[in-house]
Amino acid sequence: MEKNVLVVGGAGYIGSHCVRQLTGHGHRPVIVDNLAFGHREAVPADVPFYECDLGDSTAVREILKKEDIDLVMHFAAFAYVGESVENPLKYYFNNVVATINLLKAMVDEGVNQFVFSSTCATYGVPPSLPITEDLPQHPINPYGQTKLDVENALKALARAHGFSSASFRYFNAAGAAEDGSLGEDHRPETHLIPLVFDAALGRREQIRIFGTDYDTPDGTCLRDYVHVDDLSRAHIAVFDRLENPGTTLHYNLGTGTPASVREVIDTVAGVSGRNVPVVEEARRPGDPPSLYADSSRAVRELDWKLRFPDLESIVETAWRWHRDHPDGYRS
Ligand code: UDP
Repeated sequence: MEKNVLVVGGAGYIGSHCVRQLTGHGHRPVIVDNLAFGHREAVPADVPFYECDLGDSTAVREILKKEDIDLVMHFAAFAYVGESVENPLKYYFNNVVATINLLKAMVDEGVNQFVFSSTCATYGVPPSLPITEDLPQHPINPYGQTKLDVENALKALARAHGFSSASFRYFNAAGAAEDGSLGEDHRPETHLIPLVFDAALGRREQIRIFGTDYDTPDGTCLRDYVHVDDLSRAHIAVFDRLENPGTTLHYNLGTGTPASVREVIDTVAGVSGRNVPVVEEARRPGDPPSLYADSSRAVRELDWKLRFPDLESIVETAWRWHRDHPDGYRS
């Protein structure tokens, strides 16, 4: 059934890809974004857009009513691990308090289906790999904690209000739209793949490798890079399951194939045909050595199939974006 979907943070990296997928699957997206991190250029001309803060409950309630919203997807969060350690209140305020405001507006308006961007950072340092959804969640930074706090609030809302939700625990979102029109543009940029492209394009002197003495095959951290379009499709595949009131779902989303920092750098160099100058540095505080997903629950229950199963195909889409948009959406 076609749904009216409010996409909070729909002008951001993952949100904008989801908006495109929603339209492609016959749903009607409506975007709310305060443009603190989102980009006006990522909002399609034919999608209703409200430049609004999600802490503004009155405005959010009005939008839920006026647009006859069936389901809310929430992508608007701060997501810098290091910053969350230095400024935890900023993270609790935006990622927890503002999200609770949004949930209150939904409960008040009787909108009870929710898709939430959670993170593998809720697991902290996992006791075993690959990570399954039932491993204990002990985040080691405030960012991961704020996401876990919302996951827990969603369980309580299910019991109290018959609220249905799916929390997707993303591994490392990467890549860009295949046609090169949407991509990653964070300010400041801290993520590995865009920074390696900056080094490949000569826009930064070198890429710094944070830690070469981890207990991993080449001494650098292992992560699970998953294409942003693959992530987005799972968000829509879950809709039918949310029709059942009081459902609380959790899914890991990753490819399950770990890649080291050095492998990422080599792949970018190979795909772009450019030299990537490298400097080895100390470990970055708060980085677990290895994080990669067992996503078999999403594969089984949502019939989730990866279109970009390998790092090279993900990096190829990112290369088109970075080559043609060296200044991101400003290019
Ligand atoms: N990383 C790095 N140099 C950089 C940025 C990141 O070596 O300039 C490493 C980081 O330590 C981690 C991996 O790349 O092991 C992925 O980091 P990113 O910030 O992209 O994502 P995270 O896994 O922290 O969410």
